[in-house]
Amino acid sequence: MQTSRHPLLSPAPGTQRELISLHYGRAGAQKAYIQASLHADELPGMLVAHHLRQQLDALEASGRINGEIVLVPMANPIGLSQFLLHGHLGRFELNSGENFNRHYPDQIANVAAAIESELGDDAARNVRLLRLALREAVLQTPVDTELQSLRRTLMSLSCDADIVLDLHCDAEAVLHLYTETPCWPECEVLARFLGARLTLLAQDSGDRPFDEICSQPWWRWAEQFKNRFPIPQACLSVTVELRGQADVDHALARRDAQHIIDFLTHRGLISGQAPALPAAVGDARPLAGSIPVKSPSAGVLTFLRDAGAMLRAGEVLAHVIDPLSNQVSELTSPVDGLLFARESVRFAHAGMKVAKVAGLTALRTGKLLGD
Ligand SMILES: [Zn+2]
Repeated sequence: MQTSRHPLLSPAPGTQRELISLHYGRAGAQKAYIQASLHADELPGMLVAHHLRQQLDALEASGRINGEIVLVPMANPIGLSQFLLHGHLGRFELNSGENFNRHYPDQIANVAAAIESELGDDAARNVRLLRLALREAVLQTPVDTELQSLRRTLMSLSCDADIVLDLHCDAEAVLHLYTETPCWPECEVLARFLGARLTLLAQDSGDRPFDEICSQPWWRWAEQFKNRFPIPQACLSVTVELRGQADVDHALARRDAQHIIDFLTHRGLISGQAPALPAAVGDARPLAGSIPVKSPSAGVLTFLRDAGAMLRAGEVLAHVIDPLSNQVSELTSPVDGLLFARESVRFAHAGMKVAKVAGLTALRTGKLLGD
């Protein structure tokens, strides 16, 4: 295993953060890129990375790593240091207010224009050329700020990978995934190995989150060059939501790490016999069918149903109680679907989104991700 240190743009004299990546195996065959805690206060992924590292060390020692595996155990050194009044704020950069998982630079059109004259009938060769050009374009992306240099560094490590896993978590949730629709055939296998209850599918959900900037070039180029050059969906990129923020537990993390190893073995990046493909414990639903449950009033929030419950439209899932008026507001499910995520705070303000229910029908339009 080789450790690489990537200095970020220094925001002020005398200060410099760095991103650290761990590299297993060799370039040339398949490549997997796995990063943890891009939202720096979502820690289950960091513990999974700890267990993954132990497994990868052992696999490397026994010569079983065939492909290239890049592990970034702490993807956000900026967010890791953002504490305010004893609270950890790892989702948004305090300076700009921007979400660490949005606004990745789009080099898709630039690369297409630069490489078009070299493309041909050989799909594998097209993939090789496009990956080289994409990585070069990413490295040339101008950056003005430390945050932009973090985004560029993460992209430079991941943009040419066959498999990208971005390990996050929700507030309180069942294990679920986000991926772009063209990735679903391959993601379906990952979902089975991980035991995901739900995969939320969208195609360009808006604001360029990290997973989509890795998968999006391939289906966009395929559309652009359709009928002229074969371009496969060469990157399976998935946001893995490892349950809730407090689910930082050795037994869970050890199991999640093993499931990732099983998947990589199934895909051939690790030699040996992969376990049989597990039965699916969930399904895929449109991200546009994931409907937030809002509180109409302020008060103490108490849930009547756990994450993982299947609800009927109109079924009560929580109460919001105003202790002054003694009024109890019932919060009901907006659709038939899976209650897959809940807030972890227990005071709701008026209009607050306190839970998410995934239905089967796409009902929302516009930008599909939350803040
Ligand atoms: Zn996150």
